[in-house]
Amino acid sequence: MRTAISTLELVEPRSLKHALDVLRDRQPVLPLAGGTDIYVLLNAGAPPCSRYLNLWNLDALRGITTRDGVVSIGALTTFSEIVRSPLVRRRVPMLAAAAREIGAVQIQNRGTLGGNVANGSPAGDSLPVLAAVDAVVVLQRADGTRRVPFNGFYTGYRRTVMRPDELVAAIEIPPVAGRQWFRKVGTRAAQAISKVVIAAVRAPRPRVAFGSVAPTVVRVPRTEALLAGGGSIDEAVATLATEIAPIDDIRSTAEYRRRVACNLLRQFWTETA
Ligand SMILES: Cc1cc2nc3c(=O)[nH]c(=O)nc-3n(C[C@H](O)[C@H](O)[C@H](O)COP(=O)(O)OP(=O)(O)OC[C@H]3O[C@@H](n4cnc5c(N)ncnc54)[C@H](O)[C@@H]3O)c2cc1C
Repeated sequence: MRTAISTLELVEPRSLKHALDVLRDRQPVLPLAGGTDIYVLLNAGAPPCSRYLNLWNLDALRGITTRDGVVSIGALTTFSEIVRSPLVRRRVPMLAAAAREIGAVQIQNRGTLGGNVANGSPAGDSLPVLAAVDAVVVLQRADGTRRVPFNGFYTGYRRTVMRPDELVAAIEIPPVAGRQWFRKVGTRAAQAISKVVIAAVRAPRPRVAFGSVAPTVVRVPRTEALLAGGGSIDEAVATLATEIAPIDDIRSTAEYRRRVACNLLRQFWTETA
């Protein structure tokens, strides 16, 4: 660990209310959930903050429930809990599929859905799922709660509409009609960051979202509209190729990502026919 832990402060809140008060009164302070993203930065000697707010013991942020058809997943819910949840497997099987492919078991035991969302990596594997199902992010602060459509949550590369005094409290997923499909393409089966990741719903109005092809997770509305209007999959693939703008980076090339994204769209369409 290249960061001297003794230089950092860890605040242990007694309750969710206490945590929200700390976020209001003691900025700068960074929420710490499973720590699987934050520890990478600490290990690299690049601490993102010197004061952390430990969320791990706040059970109010845990759990998977359903009400009026909406599945609500507490921000602190781990990927292992998502994989094991009969409710998620029945209602949002592609979220369970995504969770099963995040890191490996150790990361799934610690990594949380809220952390994946708040971290905002364009390669975050749960994000295309949440985009494709039109999820809602529940943000809580000391003096109130607001609900933000997931597809309006990111404003740029790792930038969100969340304020420093807010927490992601939960993710809400409305009923999903249609067949769900998820696929992650990485270097290997586990411990691999996505080169391209897709989540899609086959319905009269298909919904298709990609990760790792833009600065944020993206829906592809022109491609969706073409498929909804009865266009052929060849036309849809041609549209998709112009609709996404992937980049070259250490994990892949733009050209590879574009081609794989097109292949995945075709595979989604064929397998859900
Ligand atoms: C070896 C390894 C493999 C990995 N593999 C994958 C993978 O395959 N796919 C993938 O998507 N990710 C992967 N990750 C990244 C990481 O595990 C996930 O992003 C995970 O979901 C982060 O959750 P966390 O609870 O550990 O977040 P933390 O590290 O605790 O926090 C991450 C960020 O989110 C903020 N945050 C956390 N919770 C909240 C909240 N409730 N409200 C507001 N802000 C919050 C923190 O302040 C911080 O900025 C991997 C990481 C490692 C180390």
